[in-house]
Amino acid sequence: LGELDWLQSRAQLYPNDEAVVDVQAQRSLSYEELNDRATVLAEGLKHSGIQKGDRIALLSLNHISYFDTLFACLKVGAIFVPLNWRLSQDELTYVLQDSDPKLVIIHPEFEQSLAWLNKTYNTLLIDHPNYMYDLDRQDIGKISLHETDPLAMIYTGGTTGKPKGAVLSHRSVMWNALNTIISWGLTKDDRTLTAIPMFHTGGLNALSIPILMAGGQVIIHANFDPDQAVEHIIKYRCTIVLFIPTMYQLITESLIFKENDFPHMKVFLSGGAPCPLTIYERFENKRLQFREGYGLTEAGPNNFYIEPEDARLKKGSVGQEMMFNDIDIVNSAGESVAINEVGELWLRGKHLFEYYWNQEEETMAQLHGEWLKTGDLARRDSEGFVYIVGRKKDMIISGGENIFPLEIEHWLLSHSDIQEVAVIGVPDQLWGEKAIAYISTSNPNLDVAQLEIYCEEKLSRYKIPKAFYLVDELPKTHVGKINKKALNRWFQEQQI
Ligand code: ATP
Repeated sequence: LGELDWLQSRAQLYPNDEAVVDVQAQRSLSYEELNDRATVLAEGLKHSGIQKGDRIALLSLNHISYFDTLFACLKVGAIFVPLNWRLSQDELTYVLQDSDPKLVIIHPEFEQSLAWLNKTYNTLLIDHPNYMYDLDRQDIGKISLHETDPLAMIYTGGTTGKPKGAVLSHRSVMWNALNTIISWGLTKDDRTLTAIPMFHTGGLNALSIPILMAGGQVIIHANFDPDQAVEHIIKYRCTIVLFIPTMYQLITESLIFKENDFPHMKVFLSGGAPCPLTIYERFENKRLQFREGYGLTEAGPNNFYIEPEDARLKKGSVGQEMMFNDIDIVNSAGESVAINEVGELWLRGKHLFEYYWNQEEETMAQLHGEWLKTGDLARRDSEGFVYIVGRKKDMIISGGENIFPLEIEHWLLSHSDIQEVAVIGVPDQLWGEKAIAYISTSNPNLDVAQLEIYCEEKLSRYKIPKAFYLVDELPKTHVGKINKKALNRWFQEQQI
């Protein structure tokens, strides 16, 4: 395995240092213990006939078993498939049929509801704390692995279509971690709290894996709870954390957040979706470092870095590309666009995924030579700072003009009565397409006509939504992002 088994070398370097604290399972593990558990599980897998390239699925709330299974797969050359436990039975069936795992490891929380899985799959229940000892052990022997061999397969969020299994090689995971360690200057003194789902690239790859590679400490929360997250950031003296913007909305409203100073925190990171500028302000008011990152399952969550001073001056920018990440912003002909012009963001580097599982055509469509076409629109200013403008699929063309929903969303979110907003494009006889806005508000008397006037203060006429719909709450995807596909369905249903 050589340097690919980097947990082994961390266990040799820092055997007694605490690597993981699983708050709900009430367990903490040193690097040596973490490595031993992965080895025991790997030996058990080997004995049950698991071979290089076999898939091992895990269905669990955030739990130590994510690391057990990932590193056991790393040691036997199997492919780790973390499953989204929020999927419906149909969706889960699809993902399982697609990935065809030899073993599904299940958290006891799902034992009853997912009993049906036992009929089709070999399952192993996480019987805390010694579930892996249920398996007989056999020496792993010599496994020959190449850095481009698959290590994990993460199903994409499904924000824009059916989930696709993005295959991440050992190289993809390592280079994402190395880029992160170098850019954010992570060391063994860093501690993070992971409450973002670990079946998602954000929960697994953004900080958890890089921090373990740096020899630091990961505090695991089974689920996201804003008060408990803040409490434990303080209790464990965390130094760097990542949440998605909807989580920050709740965190910054928590009393415990308002009443504390977080002197141990180097930086709060946001990613996964556009972050409202109001969240930046809440951190600035408390003199806390807040930065936005950008990534996607196929390229890992960390692609950009921004210095504190730049983040203050260029609010909303994700910064400049990380050291081993090339970027380009291109037009529809694939040519680089001029400074400040909007185009599709392309990424290149060893951290990229290898391919989509069972989807050669989709893979071809997503790649251009060594470049990954992210499907996101961005612009770069004259100093090389990148601003994410929105998803290409969400761009609205109204009367021949391009409208970027994010620009409108950011402005509307600065209105004190608006909690959440999503702007989508819908067909229009006159304009081809038009922008409409769905808004959740704390003010039941919010006057829609006033919103139009508010938009006029900042936005060109053609960008102003042609309709505003007030709703209690906006629909979210399984990872908590605003679900624009569902909003399009809402709109269609309203028309019937
Ligand atoms: P699917 O690919 O299945 O449609 P998804 O796009 O939500 O789902 P993820 O890989 O989970 O899949 O999320 C990556 C996407 O999240 C990016 O392509 C981008 O659209 C969005 N995103 C991530 N970070 C940011 C950011 N800082 N600002 C704006 N958007 C972001």
